[in-house]
Amino acid sequence: MSELPLTLSLVLRRASRMGGSKWVVTALREGAERRTWAQVAERALRLCGALKRLGVRPGERVATFGWNHHQHLELLLGVPQLGACVHPINVRLHPDDVVHVSREAEDAVVFVDASLTPLLAEVRARLPHVRHWVVMGEEGEVAPSFMGAPRYEELIAGEAPLEGLSEVDERTPASLCYTSGTTGRPQGVEYSHRALVLHAMGALMVDSMAVSERDVVLPLAPFFHASGWGLPYSTAFAGATLVLPGPRLDAGSVAHLIERERVTLAAAVPTVWNAFEPVLREGKHELSSLRRILCGGAPLPMRTIQRFAEHGISFLHAWGMTELAPSGTMARAREEGSPEERLAPLALQGAAVPGIELRVVDSEGRELPWDGASVGELEARGLWGASRYFKGSEGERFRAGWLRTGDVATLDAQGALRIVDRTKDLVKSGGEWISSVELENHLMAHPGVKEVAVIAVPHEHWGERPVAVVVRQPESRVSFEELVEHLRPRVARWWLPDAAHFVAELPKTATGKVDKKALRRVYARSHAT
Ligand code: ADP
Repeated sequence: MSELPLTLSLVLRRASRMGGSKWVVTALREGAERRTWAQVAERALRLCGALKRLGVRPGERVATFGWNHHQHLELLLGVPQLGACVHPINVRLHPDDVVHVSREAEDAVVFVDASLTPLLAEVRARLPHVRHWVVMGEEGEVAPSFMGAPRYEELIAGEAPLEGLSEVDERTPASLCYTSGTTGRPQGVEYSHRALVLHAMGALMVDSMAVSERDVVLPLAPFFHASGWGLPYSTAFAGATLVLPGPRLDAGSVAHLIERERVTLAAAVPTVWNAFEPVLREGKHELSSLRRILCGGAPLPMRTIQRFAEHGISFLHAWGMTELAPSGTMARAREEGSPEERLAPLALQGAAVPGIELRVVDSEGRELPWDGASVGELEARGLWGASRYFKGSEGERFRAGWLRTGDVATLDAQGALRIVDRTKDLVKSGGEWISSVELENHLMAHPGVKEVAVIAVPHEHWGERPVAVVVRQPESRVSFEELVEHLRPRVARWWLPDAAHFVAELPKTATGKVDKKALRRVYARSHAT
């Protein structure tokens, strides 16, 4: 049989041939920019020509610092065709982390959104390895130090699409993405062409994301987060229409975009969908095209799932990691039964998607039974799973071909995963584990609670005790005592939090996850009661 290599040129060719009548749409402040996939592919190849002219060599890294839009998409598709590696930097990282990741990656060129140049202006002097800066996007003021930099459109204007590109080896790194650093320093993961193609094919499977040619796909997950969950590549491969939101990710703008472009599949972390409640309540937007929401990256509250179900919109609940590019599992609602029975599978993270293997192990690395009860550390491996970190840091996370995920979980007889907690977020009280995630789920079900995080605080006697940090609903005056009464019938007595702190908002990490490291720093004083 043929040994056609699994490279992104396969994806680019298919998009340009099959997607002739399908669009890539970028939302602008007024209206939208629209191009066919064929035009996008042609522009990506013109970009290759321009990068070659700038002296970018195979094996080098080209970084991006931008929101999801046309030019950014062309970089994701174009840079790997040269054998170079595209490195989308998380624009929400702390400036010191931006410097760290860009230095580690030795980015040769950086493409930055005009509106984000003020952010990079702060750190530019600390990035002497960057040979060229290019400004993307038309919106926003360019910071003075970037005034002289070429604009993306100027750069590709005179170029002819690069022809006769030699096929790169499928194991060549195509993209470099960093973890969001929720529990430590961001770690780089290099995605090979092969992994990205297999991941894109995986996303087309009906038991995974089921991206099809008939979809209109809206990745709200930023490209700097595991390439927008791989959706640019899978949508291109499917030849479906892709809608890109630009910088406006608030619920009103997203609802408007879904309505105008008739989006069928939208993807974002739970925080985005939690913030959607007022839009659903007001009912001003016609959202009937939206058949499914892909959601993952953090625990998904049942209340959010129910709110959308009341409007006929169903969730795909995924568990994933940057190290898995990121697709690991998928849970979907049942098609039969009472409303509760239908939604029940979404409370879990679902079964591994075909191509990914999971197991739960004890502290000695022995596999535990798939009984839905045995709790241990989750390990993963698969066709698009990392086998090491970029530049080899944190090697102990990889053991005999398996990635130690840092998640504490169970697997049941049907293969469904239940994330109990992250190893670093568990509360260890009197030598026993308390799941912060489970306490948060119960607290989120209280009508007075808008958002909550449970963290471990040191305790003289018990080692650690759980403490809740709560954001109340706007009209709510719910007290600590009422929350404890709400939890009492639901959890063991020794799980009840020792205290609650009521705050206006929770600190978030660069990917919108609750920043428990920051909360622990603030509330770490010992509770001696
Ligand atoms: P970081 O580890 O820095 O947060 P990632 O963005 O790669 O970076 O996050 C992966 C982690 O996110 C997983 O290990 C898990 O803890 C969490 N996660 C992802 N999806 C889910 C989900 N559906 N439910 C609960 N936790 C999730």
